[in-house]
Amino acid sequence: MTSWVQYSPTRIIFGRGETQNVGNSLSQTGHRSVLLVADPFMAHSGVADKLVAASQGIIRGVYSDVDPNPTVHNVNGAVAAAKKIQADGIVALGGGSVIDASKAAAAAIGSDVSAEDLVTGSPVSRALPIIAVPTTAGTGSEVTPVAIISWEEKDIKFPLGSPLLFPELAIVDSTLVYSAPPRIIATAGVDVIAHCLDALSSVKHTPLSDMNALNGAEIAFANLEKAVNDKDHDSIDAMMLASLIAGLAFSQTGTTGSHAASYYLTSKYGVPHGEATAFTEDAWIRVNAQARPEINTLLQRIGFKDADEAADRLNVVKANIGMRMTLEEINVPLEDIEIVAQKTLEANNYKNNVAQLSLAEVVELLRTKSAQ
Ligand code: NAD
Repeated sequence: MTSWVQYSPTRIIFGRGETQNVGNSLSQTGHRSVLLVADPFMAHSGVADKLVAASQGIIRGVYSDVDPNPTVHNVNGAVAAAKKIQADGIVALGGGSVIDASKAAAAAIGSDVSAEDLVTGSPVSRALPIIAVPTTAGTGSEVTPVAIISWEEKDIKFPLGSPLLFPELAIVDSTLVYSAPPRIIATAGVDVIAHCLDALSSVKHTPLSDMNALNGAEIAFANLEKAVNDKDHDSIDAMMLASLIAGLAFSQTGTTGSHAASYYLTSKYGVPHGEATAFTEDAWIRVNAQARPEINTLLQRIGFKDADEAADRLNVVKANIGMRMTLEEINVPLEDIEIVAQKTLEANNYKNNVAQLSLAEVVELLRTKSAQ
């Protein structure tokens, strides 16, 4: 048996309504002046104000200029807001975009560099502590050491990674997702399945990452449609758990083919992150199960005959929750397939993928997503 390591230092508080206790959680961590980085929706809907009110005076500033797929400008704005109140920590209230922008701001302050420096390779030497409060059931960013930041002017989407970026605390309160529109629950939710299948497909997989990936996938496959189409609270709770477990898996393995292929689909064609990752995931799990046949037997433990059956089921789930299925639907012209394939091979996380395909093979894989 080979040795393996799991490093997951984030303390997790999980439960409906747990954000109401944020004041106690913050005072236990010893923070005195904290910046709240809030998703714009959370700021406008009053949820951010409630968090400030419950913080026992520890949250001293609010910053909410964060775009989906956060940019260096969002990060620099958060840095300035944090410095203004001499913040000793950052509470991130939002989806993956807000949590990632907060992690990058924490790293920029701790390492005394700009966001532009970070996305061009400056190392993270220190970072302010992060308290992550996810408002989507999708990215698992509350337990990962990664922040994905764009510098659009330079066509850069950089996965910043450092063990210093693991949040200190994750407060996972599924009531924050109950009011989200079905489309947000759907795009975030398919990302959970992509994380799980990507983790199984990584050269860095361990027995524990496999178990977490299987558990996350089983819960997500069973609950995503009800979470989206019925806004069923128990199913949303389950998706919050699946997202967290998936994060515990891919925080160790990295993401693989589906995520490598997704970045260009998002930056060039505007496909939301989760929809972009799940777009090719069915094709990747089929080829990755050829490179790592054990994926088939692992998937049998959660009721699939093999990876093909899991891929087929993923496509049914995607169709049932309104995800687009073809290159034509996401407006990728067929003549762009080769550049999408090239960008996939260039992505940093592609090296984690168990099947190392040639450019021609990735082109072939992408062609399976065309309706023609
Ligand atoms: P998001 O954070 O980009 O939010 C998408 C939209 O949903 C936004 O308009 C936001 O305002 C809205 N929203 C968020 N929560 C809501 C709620 N409860 N109710 C109503 N509206 C709400 O979406 P996401 O899918 O959570 O995150 C995607 C980002 O996360 C991408 O930038 C991706 O690269 C990154 N990501 C990071 C990791 C990681 O480990 N760091 C992993 C996966 C993805």
